[in-house]
Amino acid sequence: MSLTGSVEVIEKHNSLGIRTVTRVFALPTVIRLGRYVKTPTRRVLLNRKNLLLRDNHRCQYCGESGPNLTLDHVIPRRKGGEDTWENLVTACAPCNSKKGHRTPEQAGLRLKRPPKRPSRITFIRQSARLAHDSWRPYLFMD
Ligand SMILES: [Zn+2]
Repeated sequence: MSLTGSVEVIEKHNSLGIRTVTRVFALPTVIRLGRYVKTPTRRVLLNRKNLLLRDNHRCQYCGESGPNLTLDHVIPRRKGGEDTWENLVTACAPCNSKKGHRTPEQAGLRLKRPPKRPSRITFIRQSARLAHDSWRPYLFMD
């Protein structure tokens, strides 16, 4: 697309390239499309991976991180709690066990922040933390 002029390469990777028999092309990290392409507005899917990303892989009660994080219903299912962005949080196993089938107040726990549906740009920013540094200025992360 760069060779045909349909995109403009804005940022390139410093060390990676696309090698042909006779040439090496720098691997683009940021491109600008030659024409506007309207994309459908998509909501961030509610699933375990995205909940962990929203909560920065940290327990929302004590702040611990680690490989054994669980998902907790703030209002337990038994009490009518649903599978929603506003009712699911990441919790470490000890906090989830301590909370059990109670509300945070009943269990003496307090959420670090109220859970909410992430906006698409917020979610892209969180995902981009693991991506190339050259994306940061374009996502207003600097
Ligand atoms: Zn915890």
